[in-house]
Amino acid sequence: MNVAQIIDRLKADESFKHNLTTWQTLPARAARYGGFPDRLNPKLVDGLRARGIQNLYTHQREAVEAVLNGENVCVVTPTASGKTLCYNVPVLNRLMDNPNARALYLFPTKALSQDQVIELKSTVDDLDVKIGTYTFDGDTPASARKAIRSAGHIVVTNPDMLHAGILPHHTIWIKLFENIEYIVIDEIHHYRGVFGSHLANVLRRLKRICAFYNSDPRFICCSATINNPKEMTERIIEKPVHLVDDNGAPAGERHFLFFNPPVVNAELGIRKGVVKEAARIATQFLNRDIQSIVFARSRLRVEILTTYLKDAVRRLKKSHNLVRGYRGGYLPLERRDIEKGLREGKILTVVSTNALELGIDIGSLDVCIMAGYSGSVASTWQQAGRAGRRTDVSLAVLVASSAPLDQYIVTHPEYFFDLPPESGTIDANNLIIVSSHLKCAAFELPFLDGESFGLDPASTHELLEYLEENGVLRHVRNKWHWSADTYPAEDISLRTAAPGNVVILDTSDSGRVIGEVDLFAAPVEVYENAVYLHQTAQYTIDRLDLDDRKAYARPIEVDYYTDAQIKVDLKVLDTFNHARMAEVDKCSGELSVTWLPTIYKKIKFGTHENVGWGEIHLPESTMHTSSYWIEFPEDVSQRLNMTEKCLGESLHALAHTLRQVAPVQVLCDLTDIRAQAMVRAPFSDKPTIYLYEVYPGGVGLSDKIFSHHTRLVEAAIALLTGCACKEGCPSCVGPALEVGTHGKPGALQLAELARKE
Ligand SMILES: [Zn+2]
Repeated sequence: MNVAQIIDRLKADESFKHNLTTWQTLPARAARYGGFPDRLNPKLVDGLRARGIQNLYTHQREAVEAVLNGENVCVVTPTASGKTLCYNVPVLNRLMDNPNARALYLFPTKALSQDQVIELKSTVDDLDVKIGTYTFDGDTPASARKAIRSAGHIVVTNPDMLHAGILPHHTIWIKLFENIEYIVIDEIHHYRGVFGSHLANVLRRLKRICAFYNSDPRFICCSATINNPKEMTERIIEKPVHLVDDNGAPAGERHFLFFNPPVVNAELGIRKGVVKEAARIATQFLNRDIQSIVFARSRLRVEILTTYLKDAVRRLKKSHNLVRGYRGGYLPLERRDIEKGLREGKILTVVSTNALELGIDIGSLDVCIMAGYSGSVASTWQQAGRAGRRTDVSLAVLVASSAPLDQYIVTHPEYFFDLPPESGTIDANNLIIVSSHLKCAAFELPFLDGESFGLDPASTHELLEYLEENGVLRHVRNKWHWSADTYPAEDISLRTAAPGNVVILDTSDSGRVIGEVDLFAAPVEVYENAVYLHQTAQYTIDRLDLDDRKAYARPIEVDYYTDAQIKVDLKVLDTFNHARMAEVDKCSGELSVTWLPTIYKKIKFGTHENVGWGEIHLPESTMHTSSYWIEFPEDVSQRLNMTEKCLGESLHALAHTLRQVAPVQVLCDLTDIRAQAMVRAPFSDKPTIYLYEVYPGGVGLSDKIFSHHTRLVEAAIALLTGCACKEGCPSCVGPALEVGTHGKPGALQLAELARKE
C-alpha cells in the first residue's frame, strides 16, 4: 500500500477524522528547469550529468548565475530542493579553473559539516580533479591539521572553530586567506539573536583578515523559510545580497493534518497522551512499510516512542532494526549509520529530536509525524518538509499534546497556516558582543587609527581607548596593539552550550562508551538511579561524577522509565539600575538562576502510571546573568479589584506579552530571553515580572530593556489591544488554557499601571 492509498483510507475513517481539526492539501508542483549556464566548465557539467544531474532547476540556475556575476547570494528553498548545488556548482567551477582558489564552508553543527564533506568528496572523485575537501573542527587530529591548512581547497568548519581555532592563527592559514574567493554559510536562519550577533562579528574579523591578505570573498548563504531572509542575511554578512526564493524543484501533493487526541476525561479536560497517540499513528505506517519520521520534543520522549515502535515492529515479526531513535548524545558513528540506513531504505521509522530538522542528508521520507508542536512556525514547516518526495504524495501529521500552546495551535489552524514564519533578528552592534570581538580582532591584527569595526570610526576609537585604559591594548604611533598576555577568543563563547560532555560508560562491558550528554543536561538525565534509555537498551546509572565528567551505567531490565523534576529558582544578587515610575519600580541587575533536580518519578511503560519515586542528591547548577524587572505595588490586587489567583494569571500573561515584544525593542531572538512572574518575589516582597537573559553574564539586553521600559510597555499594550484573539493566544498573553480567562484583560490593566511615567 502506498501513501496515496493510505490517505484515501484515512479519508474514509470516520473515527480518525473525528479527531482532526484540519486537513490541508498543498498541491503538487511541476519541476521548472533552467539549464546549465554556458559559462560553466564543460567538464563539470559532464561530471554532474554523470552523477544523474541532467539539468539545473530554475532557482539553482539563478543562484549559480548570480554568483558567477560576482554577487552575494541568499538561497531560500525548502528541504530536498537541491540547495547544495547552488553553492557547490560555482565553487567547484572556480576551483577547476583556478587550483589556487580557496573556499570556506560554515555549518552550525559538526554533523552537517561531515555530511557535506562526504557529498563533496564523492562529487570530486567523479569529476576526477584534485580538489582537497576537509572538515576542520574540534575532532580533527593534530597530525592532519597542517595538511588541511596548505592543501585544503574547501575547508568545512563551524563558526565556533572559525572564531577560536582559525582566525587567531591566520598567519599559519596564509594560503587560505590569500586565495579565499567564496564563503558558504548554510542554515543561516539558525544564527538568530545573540548567536547571530556573534557570527556577524566573527565575519567582521574574517573580512578584516581577508582584506589584510588582499582577498575579497563572495558569500553564498542558504536559509530555511523565515519571514525576512534577505534582511537577516544582509545584517549578518553586512553586504547586499541577491535573494533566490523561487523554488523550481518539483514536489508531490502534500497533506498536512492536525490531530487532537480524544478526550478521556471530559470533566478534567484530559486527553489521551501525545506519545501513545503518535506511536499508534506511526504504527499504521510501519505496518504498511511506509518510511516515516517521528519528531518528539525531548530526548526522553524519543526513547519512549522508539521503545513503543520497536515493540510494535516485533509484534509484526519483523526486525526491530527497522525502527531507530536519533538524538544528540548518540555517538557519531551510530548517527552516521542511522542516516545511511534511512537513505538506503533499510530503516522504516526514525524517531528524532529536532536534531534531524537541519539539513542532514537522510533522503526524503513519505510521512512525518510530530509528537507535539515544536513551538515555532518555521521549524514546524521544516520538520514537515522531511516528508515529501519529488513526485509522490506525502503526509505530515501534527499530534497535539495537552499543553496549552499545542491546544491553541490545533484548534486555531488558521493561526499556523496564515501566519508568516518567525523573523530572524540580530544586533551586530550590541556593545558587549562587539567589544569582545574587537579584542579578538586587535589580537589578530593591530588596529590603525581611523579604522572602523562595524561601528563608525569614532565609536570604534572610543572602544579602543577604553580597552587601552584597561591594559588590554597599547597605542603606539598610529596603531593599537594587543598587549595583554591572555588569549581573548578562548574566553568568549558564541553560544550557551557548556564546553565538554559527560560520557556514559557501561561498567559491565569494560567501561565501553555508550553515549554522551552535555554538562548542563547531565544532572537531569544521568543522575544516580536514573534509567538511561538508548535505542531501547536500558541501563541504570550507578554514579554520576560531574568533576570527572563520567556517568557509570550498567544494563538492567525494568518496565519503567524515570523522569526528573527540576526546581528553578531566581535570586536577585545586585541591582544596577532602579527608577521609580508613577506606579511601579523598574530595575535591572544581576540575577542567579539555579536548577536543582529534586526527585525522579518512576513511570511505567505502556500505562504511564506513576509507580514510585526517589530523591536526587546533586548540587544545584547556577548561572549568573542579567535581568530586567518590574515591581508592582504590594496592594495592586486590591487596587485593581483582582483576586490573588487573578493577579497571578495577569502577571503571567503580561510576562508572556513583554517577552513577545522585547526582541523587537532590543534586537534579539525570542529564545535569548526568558520571562518569569511572581506574585510575591522574595527579593522585593512585591508582585514582580522578570525578563532575564539566557547567556551567562548576559549581553546587555536587560539594561537596554530597562532604558526602553516605556516603549516596551507601550508595545505590549498595542499588542494586547490589537490582537484579535478573544481570551489570549500564543502571540500575545499565551493561550487562555495557560493564563486563564482573566489573563488578557488583567495584563492590560497591569501594563497601563506600568506605563505611567
Ligand atoms: Zn492574542
